[in-house]
Amino acid sequence: MHELSIAQGIVSAVLSHLKGSKGKVLEVHVAIGELTHINEKQLAFAFEIASRGTPVEGTRLKTRTIEARLRCVSCGWQGKSFTCEACGSAMEVIAGEELLLERIRVEVDEDAQS
Ligand SMILES: [Zn+2]
Repeated sequence: MHELSIAQGIVSAVLSHLKGSKGKVLEVHVAIGELTHINEKQLAFAFEIASRGTPVEGTRLKTRTIEARLRCVSCGWQGKSFTCEACGSAMEVIAGEELLLERIRVEVDEDAQS
């Protein structure tokens, strides 16, 4: 399952942010690019499994979607199609392929910025 390895990556990133902090992790916020085809429900489930037995266990995973954006390589037209609607050239992806760990909320009402 694709989502499980991603979830493991998120958990280990959170753990490395926590270094030295004793607070309980309440929420983990991630932004998921539309083009990653990550299933948010499966990711939440995988996160639950991946965090089991770690200080991240029981933490809520909050996700938001980053909309896909593409730009024409020759004229700069931006849109969502894979061929430019203005000149027919190829498009390059400028957003939507990323997975970002945006924020970790810890109980000591302090936000650890990622
Ligand atoms: Zn174009």
